[in-house]
Amino acid sequence: MAETTDIAGALGWAKQRIDQMEARVLLRHVLQCPASRLVAWPELALKAEDWAQYRELVERRAAGEPVAYLTGMREFYGRDFMVTPAVLIPRADTELLVELAVAHFAGVPRARLLDMGTGSGVLAVTLALELDAADVTAIDRSREALWVAMANAARLGASVSFVQSDWFSGLGEERFQLIVANPPYIAAEDAHLEQGDLRFEPRTALAAGPAGLDDLAEIVSRAPTHLEAEGWLFLEHGFDQASAVRGLLADAGFAAIASWKDLAGIERVSGGRWLGRD
Ligand code: GLN
Repeated sequence: MAETTDIAGALGWAKQRIDQMEARVLLRHVLQCPASRLVAWPELALKAEDWAQYRELVERRAAGEPVAYLTGMREFYGRDFMVTPAVLIPRADTELLVELAVAHFAGVPRARLLDMGTGSGVLAVTLALELDAADVTAIDRSREALWVAMANAARLGASVSFVQSDWFSGLGEERFQLIVANPPYIAAEDAHLEQGDLRFEPRTALAAGPAGLDDLAEIVSRAPTHLEAEGWLFLEHGFDQASAVRGLLADAGFAAIASWKDLAGIERVSGGRWLGRD
């Protein structure tokens, strides 16, 4: 292997191994440079250690590791979030939860919001920044995830209260006007868990019982004791779970039950309003 090469050579070398867009992301990560540099300066020679680091990242990507874990970053709602293998990699679909929360709570002073199973903190941090009058709490069962979420809140200047809690168990009697969650919702035996990026993500953030509904059901059934009267619950779920989640919400006594579609036109979030009969 040559001691070093230039930008064009590095991208060319990756061609047989991984996607070219991903090779660009990895090269930018190693060189810590803007995308324009790769285009404008193809003959720029890489330092030997950068070339070695880039080759290692390309090989790891070729072996399946997610790009987000290799670079340690993923964009969500226009901001860069740190990610590690302790947290789910944020998905664009989850931005729908942010849009719904913002639509319902923009301009509401000191709204109390709760993000359950925050992972990297994308929902809690984004809500705290988009709704600057809101009071945002985030829980996760995983201490490692909470460290990542706290680091993201600090980096992005968001004020969020973090609590280590297994769903509602650590929250005492607290009540909120909005609860959002992107819980695990994949069926435990789903073959997708053995494919692509999912193989590298925390199984506890993905799988939830035989039908993938165990955590959704637990959150829905216990949410009423943590919602203010007229508070909202919005839950992300799998592509084929909308009617099951609407059923859970109905059984628990929620009103104004509805589902909302993601960018692909799939019902991805369902929710309802707690009218305060509890
Ligand atoms: N949306 C993710 C996927 O299907 C799963 C995330 C989750 O379980 N919350 O890949």
